[in-house]
Amino acid sequence: MENDLSRILIERETIQRRVRELADAISETYGEDSDGLVIVPVLSGSIIFLADLIRYLPFKMKIGLMTISSYRGATTTAGRARVVQDLSVDIANRHVLIVDDILDTGNTLRLVISQLLERRPASLRVCVLLRKPTKAPKDIQADFVGFDIEDVFVVGYGLDYNDHYRNWPDIGVLRSELYA
Ligand code: 5GP
Ligand code: MG
Repeated sequence: MENDLSRILIERETIQRRVRELADAISETYGEDSDGLVIVPVLSGSIIFLADLIRYLPFKMKIGLMTISSYRGATTTAGRARVVQDLSVDIANRHVLIVDDILDTGNTLRLVISQLLERRPASLRVCVLLRKPTKAPKDIQADFVGFDIEDVFVVGYGLDYNDHYRNWPDIGVLRSELYA
């Protein structure tokens, strides 16, 4: 698995430190509103990030699952996001935090945000581990961002290529000959 990466972009220890900081920022932002928060992870890329993040959040919460498919083997989305499995909990009048692995073109988050707003949450915020600022669209903004990264295709820490590499503990750059 390691041989398939051309380099490591973010080491596991650095990720852990930053996830803890994000959790602190989230706790501080919600303050009194944090009890009863509904976290909506965008599956499957956010699973590892979600698992680490929520263990640093010391309040009562629910997790509402929703699966979005965006890549299907290619390394670019270009408007192909679609809902594969709809939300599992009621979010009306609840504070909601979307958790996603990476904000790239914003197509995925645009779809998720529009779906969730229809259910009239009390508030809706977005937390992403990674953002590619070169492409990030103006209309989709994240309230909490772990790392801004260059425009390379990354895997590991939940991020996949063809459903592989999610279990790699660091975030690394996939060798381009593996998907070119
Ligand atoms: P967007 O819809 O913003 O273009 O892309 C968001 C989704 O595409 C992310 O949730 C993620 O699943 C996938 N994605 C975008 N960039 C990358 C990347 O560099 N590596 C991987 N593995 N997935 C990515
Ligand atoms: Mg994703």
